[in-house]
Amino acid sequence: MGAPGRKVGIVAVQGDVREHAQAVAELGAQPVEVRTPGALSGVDALILPGGESTTMSMLLDSAGLRDPLVEAVASGIPVLGTCAGMILLAAEVLDGRADQQGLGGIDVTVRRNAFGRQRDSFEADLDVAGLEGGPFPAVFIRAPVVERAGPGVDVLATLDGRPVLCRQGSITVAAFHPELTGDHRIHERSLGGW
Ligand code: GLN
Repeated sequence: MGAPGRKVGIVAVQGDVREHAQAVAELGAQPVEVRTPGALSGVDALILPGGESTTMSMLLDSAGLRDPLVEAVASGIPVLGTCAGMILLAAEVLDGRADQQGLGGIDVTVRRNAFGRQRDSFEADLDVAGLEGGPFPAVFIRAPVVERAGPGVDVLATLDGRPVLCRQGSITVAAFHPELTGDHRIHERSLGGW
């Protein structure tokens, strides 16, 4: 994932920050927990973790992080958003709260909690385009799904024919949790440039 000591910011207002930090450290980069705008300076890549997107959206506002994050995402550094992080980066959100506001970044429409109650959380092996080493073990937890991917978006993996891993330029979004299985290939590729 590039030079050791590369700094990867992890937005740390809510959600599973620790697991992402461990993945980043195991890849030889330096995780930086981002709770204030100042913590974004000098960050070479960014992760928006899973959690609860409505809560995260409110906490981004109270921390003064919304505008600095919109700027960081637009700056072209590699960004990985997982689950709630994917919802925050999506251009459009269905079944969100009326006051839920995203950061933009990737031209997809996502639907929250799209797999329903029966499949609240589950695992699936995904074939990921361009990823060597076999299928990726994906953990889905109250996961969103991509209902529309714009023309500039590459769909890298699907589940039951629905996109669950997408990329546009330097921004990658996953409906699942690649930080939970110890398989760091998606972190490596998305934060290093596919
Ligand atoms: N359902 C959550 C949301 O809407 C996302 C779940 C997750 O990040 N595991 O924000």
